[in-house]
Amino acid sequence: MTNEERRKLLRDLLAKKDSGGLKTKDRLAIPPQEMPEQDATARRRNVSEVALGYTEEQARIEAMRCLQCRNALCVEGCPVRIRIREFVGAIAQGDYQQALAIIKENSLLPAVCGRVCPQEVQCQEKCTVGLSLKDVSKAVSIGRLERFVADRGGEAILALRGEGVPPLHPAAVRRQDAGETQGRDGLATEAVPAVAPPTGMKVAIIGSGPGGIVAAADTRRAGHEVTVFEAFHKPGGVMVYGIPEFRLPKAIVQREIDTLRKMGVKIVTNFIVGRTRTIEQLMKEDGFDAVYIGVGAGLPSFMNVEGESLVGVYSANEYLTRANLMKAYQFGSGADTPIAMSKRVAVVGGGNVAMDSARTAVRLGAEKVYLIYRRTEKEMPARVEEVHHAKQEGVDFHLLQNPKRIIGDANGSVVAIECLRYELGEPDASGRRRPVAIPGSEFQIDVDTVIIAIGNLANPLIRQTTPSLGFNKWGNIIVDESCKTSMEGVYAGGDIVLGAATVILAMGQGRIAAAAMNESLARKRERRKS
Ligand code: FAD
Repeated sequence: MTNEERRKLLRDLLAKKDSGGLKTKDRLAIPPQEMPEQDATARRRNVSEVALGYTEEQARIEAMRCLQCRNALCVEGCPVRIRIREFVGAIAQGDYQQALAIIKENSLLPAVCGRVCPQEVQCQEKCTVGLSLKDVSKAVSIGRLERFVADRGGEAILALRGEGVPPLHPAAVRRQDAGETQGRDGLATEAVPAVAPPTGMKVAIIGSGPGGIVAAADTRRAGHEVTVFEAFHKPGGVMVYGIPEFRLPKAIVQREIDTLRKMGVKIVTNFIVGRTRTIEQLMKEDGFDAVYIGVGAGLPSFMNVEGESLVGVYSANEYLTRANLMKAYQFGSGADTPIAMSKRVAVVGGGNVAMDSARTAVRLGAEKVYLIYRRTEKEMPARVEEVHHAKQEGVDFHLLQNPKRIIGDANGSVVAIECLRYELGEPDASGRRRPVAIPGSEFQIDVDTVIIAIGNLANPLIRQTTPSLGFNKWGNIIVDESCKTSMEGVYAGGDIVLGAATVILAMGQGRIAAAAMNESLARKRERRKS
């Protein structure tokens, strides 16, 4: 469909809607809008974002597909309960600022979540349109719409006016006339959130991932003095060191960090809590009244097979950190981080981390990238879109296979990986069918690099240095429903509590913890006064 055809379709739909003639069957007949993407061959050689974002016409047409269900089941599927029906309705009307405001009631990072949330198993799985069309991929693209308003909220309004496109919602025009929309770089310009007068209370946020960012923003808004302590030299957590640029541009995360700074949050990098200072020191000696622990799950799991210490074997964490945070893809032309110049790469795993590693290896120039996963594609935890993109980029999927050992040469460098073939047995505790090795099915693949992406665990440092904190048997911090830990004044959330989870869940917990911290600090302040 050309842009002109889309404009005509949108005009026709709006006219029908205004005359009260746009029925459910008409909405169900609107073609789902495909996400414009970078060409699959071209993108193998760059790290720019793959998904390019909806045009205004696409966004409004996609929004018109929403049936505006009274019971809005999609909201049940959203971990932070965004009022989806209302924000999608505002997009259909062309009121992007209103749409963004609705999303921001519950989600502080819409440009991030619109890109990386697994919507197909959350809000979109419950969408009535997808259910009616018996295909979840035909559900209203709620995530893409979220991304659209987050990226283009202000600018889109300016772009739309006077171009022969359908009229805007009057509220949007009023706001534009009032000069509220000044997108500069394709990203919506947003005001810095207001901060309450100083309370004299000090809050420490440990870790600058999505949970830490939200907890810092919400506690700062309440007027507390907030310091974020981050182990790396750059804040942003997995969003900067794990998820690659081609899925989540770093400028988006940087914008959130800049907003925190503008709000007066202090960000201290290269500061490892548990090494530089312990939590007890922060509270007893440095005067912090409350602490949020959002250190994630950064300890890579290994397979414990022969050959894992050979040269050329990476954990996905190390590989992605070198490539993303340290910009190894620019080695020799702007960055001094070495990384294997691999020709044949085996990535082991089936989650987002495995897809990101495989697709990064493609971009770093590997001739052949194998994705080795012991179940079938149906059981893969990776987002459907990432699997689709990996295949488009030429990643070779080896399903129902798993490494038995990694083979090295006389210099201790990887030359091959030996795998066993598998079949699926009965479902295991996770409900997925258990992979069962087929005896005698060994075979080898020649590779020079192996990247292990089979999961992450909690780093034990906080546990080792904070004896009064309660942990479960997997090393995750135990919290109550308000994200409060067993230690007075200490809260925790995100992957360190949930195990390796998602951005939106970490963000949700950061928010819950901040609300509880604000409440507890208000009580403490009252006690101090009396
Ligand atoms: P994290 O993002 O893990 O950040 C924790 C921060 O704490 C880090 O910056 C770390 O350096 C810092 N830190 C650790 N220890 C200390 C210490 N002792 N002192 C100070 N700082 C410390 N989720 C999705 O929803 N969608 C996706 O597509 C997706 N893709 C992913 C791809 C990859 C490669 C990875 C690794 C994860 C992905 N996830 C995805 C998961 C998601 O990124 C995480 O669930 C989320 O980032 C967890 O947030 P968090 O706030 O717990 O902290």
